[in-house]
Amino acid sequence: MEKKLNILYLYPDILELYGDYGNIQVLKYRLEKRNYKCNIERYSIEDNPPDFTKYDLVFAGGGADIEQDILSKDLIKYKDNIKEAIKYGVFFLLICGAYQLFGKYYKDADGTIINGLNIFPYYTEAINDRTKRCIGNIVIEATLNNQKEKIIGFENHGGQTSDVFSPFGTVLYGNGNKFGDKYEGFFLENVIGTYLHGPLLSKNPSLADYIIKYCLDRKYNENTELEKLDDTFENLCREQLLNRFKK
Ligand code: GLN
Repeated sequence: MEKKLNILYLYPDILELYGDYGNIQVLKYRLEKRNYKCNIERYSIEDNPPDFTKYDLVFAGGGADIEQDILSKDLIKYKDNIKEAIKYGVFFLLICGAYQLFGKYYKDADGTIINGLNIFPYYTEAINDRTKRCIGNIVIEATLNNQKEKIIGFENHGGQTSDVFSPFGTVLYGNGNKFGDKYEGFFLENVIGTYLHGPLLSKNPSLADYIIKYCLDRKYNENTELEKLDDTFENLCREQLLNRFKK
């Protein structure tokens, strides 16, 4: 039987910073290498409304304040359907601006409030100075399938996120949810919200495989044994980066 994952890529023309689209390419590459099919559908403002529950994975990237403002009203139209999809177990990978919009709100440096979906109780406020941003490389430690993994990325956000009851990881290098925070992102079973651009999944193949396995296990009701891929270059690159970012 041919096995296939269906991915919904949200607002590809609006939310795409620092190679966020690379995450989709990595998922497709790692699926196809293992002879799985990968179908990618895109949704943006004015397209036909998607049914989020029909997908295995939903991905959305980061964006500037103005872009978040433009799309938030559109996104909120789908709140109930998105909630249903999350409850149903569809995996959501949300980077930076998209991560913020799944919380209560994002208040930008000028004090403008951009409403979020309010699906999760965290909220984000930028400090009153546009020049003060959390920018730079970041390394966190997350737990995936009971194993601690170092996750490497790049952050660039003015927003300071508070009230995250279940973070993605602890910060080893960089800022995280706030300037100098101990924690980064949000992680709840089938939802990862993170400030890590990168693209995140090219720098962290184990995270890509964690997501792929979750989606295949759920869809086909099995305990998928993922064929090992040759990650020699990815691992050399990781080693190099981790050495560079050591405190
Ligand atoms: N505009 C948001 C902020 O500055 C998100 C930025 C991003 O997605 N990189 O916090």
